[in-house]
Amino acid sequence: MNGARRAPLSSRSLHSSPVHMASSIVLFGPPGAGKGTQAGNIVEMTGKPQVSTGDMLRAALAAGTSLGVEAKGFMEAGQLVPDSIIIGLIEERLKEADAENGVLFDGFPRTIAQAEALSQIAEVSVVIAIEVPDGRIVERICGRYTCGACAAVYHDTFNPTANPGVCDQCGHAEMKRRADDNEDTVRTRLSAYHTQTAPLADWYRQRDIFVAVNGDQDIAKVGSEIAAVL
Ligand code: ADP
Ligand code: ADP
Ligand code: ZN
Repeated sequence: MNGARRAPLSSRSLHSSPVHMASSIVLFGPPGAGKGTQAGNIVEMTGKPQVSTGDMLRAALAAGTSLGVEAKGFMEAGQLVPDSIIIGLIEERLKEADAENGVLFDGFPRTIAQAEALSQIAEVSVVIAIEVPDGRIVERICGRYTCGACAAVYHDTFNPTANPGVCDQCGHAEMKRRADDNEDTVRTRLSAYHTQTAPLADWYRQRDIFVAVNGDQDIAKVGSEIAAVL
């Protein structure tokens, strides 16, 4: 149950996978690091479903649920949604049958309080941090667009669709941009990341389950670094 009692990843045998069957994986990093982009491969490799609190909140907002209404102002301002809302959302999600063998958390936990709550309800075997310098984040976020049907993630210059406006993954022809993907909000989100989320890196380092990969290289290279960790 407690990762702190285990050997650091670097001293474990490459042949004994750190990804325990029933345990979860955390994808960690600033907004725009490439968490959503890399999640698909990890889901394929591990069979664990992706649990993105950002996607869940946007779905609640679109559906007009009371949770969505509560979260809306924080998201639009680029601030973190209160821990109590997020923890409640995760508790419900982990009760679903597909979460039985662990999940891939994307964008959660984002505060130490969230990580502490998570440690009470699920085992995390590895935290993969995608490191990207602040100077790259604005261009990443401001060029981001996603497929309106399957949520595949693209970028105006770094990862455009093969045919403009048409999803490579599913062929759908309507792309979306997020309301919070603008320069002002990105700066608020980055500062929330540094003050509230970045301290979690040490929290997980102390538990010997933290692995950093260089996110400032092309998408395929980041993907192979992550595959090597898993
Ligand atoms: P996150 O989920 O961490 O917020 P995304 O996966 O949505 O980040 O990526 C943010 C933007 O950056 C997207 O437009 C994506 O296409 C682009 N992107 C992701 N990884 C890379 C990379 N390694 N190099 C360049 N652009 C990238
Ligand atoms: P990004 O990776 O680009 O920052 P996300 O989709 O993960 O975007 O999150 C979008 C917004 O949803 C955040 O700016 C924040 O308002 C809210 N949010 C998502 N996940 C969390 C979380 N774990 N804790 C608090 N707020 C969250
Ligand atoms: Zn699509």
